[in-house]
Amino acid sequence: MSIKITNECINCGACEPECPNKAIYEGGTSWSMSDGTSLKKELYKTSLNNPIKNNIYFIVKEKCTECIGFYDTPQCIEICPVNCCVLDSKNIETKKDLIKKKFFLHGK
Ligand code: SF4
Ligand code: SF4
Repeated sequence: MSIKITNECINCGACEPECPNKAIYEGGTSWSMSDGTSLKKELYKTSLNNPIKNNIYFIVKEKCTECIGFYDTPQCIEICPVNCCVLDSKNIETKKDLIKKKFFLHGK
């Protein structure tokens, strides 16, 4: 399951540099699958996507692996000072799915 950021976000920016997949963006920022991953820019260059949120930080669910393959726990949840990074029950993925996603994003 990916993590989501709730409306309680205070825009402190602490979570963004902690994400190993560059899945977290400041509100109003365009995002891409190739940012911070091994996916080739040439293949994904048309995929500069519109911001998901404009006023608070957001997580791209396609890039979030719950930190699997890098850390034992989701780093955004650990660092957020107001506990607004939470499990997104609408995007449930098994550990196997998350490992596959990690390899898709970063290769071996
Ligand atoms: S759980 Fe990990 S991979 Fe997912 S958004 Fe948070 S820091 Fe990034
Ligand atoms: S650490 Fe929490 S409050 Fe700060 S930007 Fe990230 S989600 Fe928002």
